[in-house]
Amino acid sequence: MKQMKVLVVDDDMDSLAIASLRLKKDGYIIETAGSGDECMHKAREKRPDLILLDVQMPGRSGFEVCKELKSDQRLSHIPVIFLSAADDTSEKVKGLDLGAVDYVTKPFDVFELRARVRAALRTKRLQDLLLKYSEVDSLTEIYNRRVLMSRLHQEWDRTLRSGGVISFIMVDIDRFKLVNDTYGHPVGDEVLETIAYILKSSIRSGDIVGRYGGEEFGIVMVNSTSDEAALAADRYRKVIQMAIFQSKKGEFSVTASFGTADSRRRVSVAELVTASDTALYKAKETGRNMVCKAD
Ligand SMILES: [Mg+2]
Repeated sequence: MKQMKVLVVDDDMDSLAIASLRLKKDGYIIETAGSGDECMHKAREKRPDLILLDVQMPGRSGFEVCKELKSDQRLSHIPVIFLSAADDTSEKVKGLDLGAVDYVTKPFDVFELRARVRAALRTKRLQDLLLKYSEVDSLTEIYNRRVLMSRLHQEWDRTLRSGGVISFIMVDIDRFKLVNDTYGHPVGDEVLETIAYILKSSIRSGDIVGRYGGEEFGIVMVNSTSDEAALAADRYRKVIQMAIFQSKKGEFSVTASFGTADSRRRVSVAELVTASDTALYKAKETGRNMVCKAD
């Protein structure tokens, strides 16, 4: 399991040392900060899974820092536990209303602090898991269509700004229905998993692959023309046709067809996707197990 990272923020060095030492023994990675400003800086830089935040600090109070954390889209999901010497209900309510998940009174009982940290991190872990499952396709564990398309839009915008070029490759397994009909759906699922794995491990870092639909995959190739995408696609095509699948009816292999298009002279993401889809259609029409480029 991933080691969780806790950022402890307190202007009181003794309190900071006790909390850090105890939590380090529980196996967490500990980061520390002595002020609100340092907290914001470390939160951005270290991306902790939890922040323990002292309320009474010189300069900005913990409440103000919490407000800033919660208003930053990249940091707002990090749970905050307030540490405070004030043991009155209105303070606690204020802290929780600001979006904190818990409130611990100082001087803290170390067992209580550890239990509350564990509870907060348990929730954080579940949240992370849910986020992951909302982004990946459950069978192939690559991005689902929604995330693939949103990443394509991001890369498209970035490319427009920088004046570069990106390509989109559409991949479709040939005669996949026949695979399911002949060998059964569990074997068909294995084929999908294997091909997703092949694509994921073949693409360059920075490129993005996702499951577009049933037996269709999409690949975003950054800084690449349609020609370069076609060369890459041909490599993927060769690797795919070499994979051997086992079934009760014996061994078999599959092939895939590819269509590539790039962003030059295209006005929208939709046009880019349609162009690769049309090229894919041409590859299917012309005999399958091949790569076609859009005009
Ligand atoms: Mg303090």
